[in-house]
Amino acid sequence: MSEMVLLGDEAVAQGAIDAGLSIAYGYPGTPSTEIVEYLQEWKRKEDESLIASWCSNEKTAYEAAVAVSMMGKRALVTMKHVGLNVAADAFMNSVGYTIHGGLVLAVADDPGMHSSQNEQDSRYYADFARTICLEPRNQQEAYEMTKDAFELSEKLHLPVLLKLTTRISHSRAVIKRGEVRPKNEFNPSKDRSHWTNLPFLSRQNYEDLWQQRPVLAEISEKSDYNPLILNGNNRDVAVITTGLAYNYYKEAERDLENKPSHLHISFYPMPEDKIRELAGSAKRVIVIEEGYPFVERFLKGILPQAVQVDGKLNDVIPHLGEITPDICRKAMGLEAFEKAEIPEIEMPGRPPQLCKGCPHTDSYKALNEVMGEYENPVVTSDIGCYTLGYFAPHNAIHSCLDMGAAVTMARGAAEAGAHPVVGVIGDSTFMHTGIQGLVDMLSAGNKVTLMILDNSITAMTGMQQTIVESSGIINVVKGCGVSPEHVRTIIPLPKHHEENVKIIREEVEYNGVSVIIAQRACIHVVKRKYAKG
Ligand code: SF4
Repeated sequence: MSEMVLLGDEAVAQGAIDAGLSIAYGYPGTPSTEIVEYLQEWKRKEDESLIASWCSNEKTAYEAAVAVSMMGKRALVTMKHVGLNVAADAFMNSVGYTIHGGLVLAVADDPGMHSSQNEQDSRYYADFARTICLEPRNQQEAYEMTKDAFELSEKLHLPVLLKLTTRISHSRAVIKRGEVRPKNEFNPSKDRSHWTNLPFLSRQNYEDLWQQRPVLAEISEKSDYNPLILNGNNRDVAVITTGLAYNYYKEAERDLENKPSHLHISFYPMPEDKIRELAGSAKRVIVIEEGYPFVERFLKGILPQAVQVDGKLNDVIPHLGEITPDICRKAMGLEAFEKAEIPEIEMPGRPPQLCKGCPHTDSYKALNEVMGEYENPVVTSDIGCYTLGYFAPHNAIHSCLDMGAAVTMARGAAEAGAHPVVGVIGDSTFMHTGIQGLVDMLSAGNKVTLMILDNSITAMTGMQQTIVESSGIINVVKGCGVSPEHVRTIIPLPKHHEENVKIIREEVEYNGVSVIIAQRACIHVVKRKYAKG
């Protein structure tokens, strides 16, 4: 049995490889990105038959993976938690399918919002879809659970959601590799009724899904991923942990004189009998979980009121942010760990900012000059490095909601009477979900200018290749129906400033949809190119 030192994300990738993965699709998003990156490296060095591709967005990735499963092969899809909102339509509907080749969806949540707009908890999606969720507590489990997830998916004919969190995804540990399973042969599913969600078929599929609940519940009760340790000598308090909280609780437990009964939950749907057995052993249950109070709320629904449940809902555990060892200690009535004295030094505040020489700086300078000529200009923006245009000295953008909203919000603002309205979006984000908004705008005949800040890369998540190159984006925009004379390109460099201002000024006054593509590569792409020679 070989050992490797891997990030949690890489452990998922290695688990998938060892489970006989044929194809992986994903959309880059911190903290999930390293899964596909590891697979791409594996393909380069070890197995050129493996396919590991970035897609336009999470929905296209998920749908492609479903088709891989339909052909009998094992497929992995990766995304961050907010990406699952984009893939939700496909994910929810695929649960009605009779999954053929194993289909595993690895979603990395970001409690603490280190690099995200919200903290949503993907366990709700698995529950919503009525399928299995596995939540590893460490990197070894991330490896093993990925392998098990493929087995469960094929055995139960369900897509399985593997929920990761930032700390697991982005920290390293030694992984013991297990057996390597061969890939599935091409073996298309024969029964079209399993793959066609027509209402008369869906009704039956949905009924079958419901009938399967007791099977999932039984697996959950018996699963080693939900270990229950009872201590009859402590009738006061019992503990439930999920995910990473297990490790912090175990550290704290060493300092408890009378150890509470403890249930750790990693396999959902939840093991109701084990929960009742635990709660029957004590007057009070403390739930330590990362993310939303998912287990805690469930407990309130099934336990008698006489059992006191403490957790996020009554602030025994903070409702926002990551779980820490000290949070666990405090919940268990222990003192926080002693910390080394940190010398008091006044540090200057350093908000995140665009790199020196970033092309977006010059785009914003030109845009601000034009917008400054109007009383109430609106600049809607999107997710990417250019969102940093919110900060001084740029102060260039007025909104950022989600991927693609720069375009659709620009439309809404224009129809509400705003002028001028400029939507700012990146090249990768435009391909993700910007195109559909552009089609809406064209259909409505809005007076809006869309600026696509094309830096030739998906920069913010670590330089993944954009799906369509710069020349292709111009064709996509024209193909959507933007009048060719109002598809303009600029080069955001100081020496072109006056010319760029003139172009933006002309286009914001155009009575229709115009698109300005600011073409200049991210400085890190340029550096990399020079380094290669
Ligand atoms: S990574 Fe590239 S695109 Fe992002 S801020 Fe830096 S230079 Fe600009």
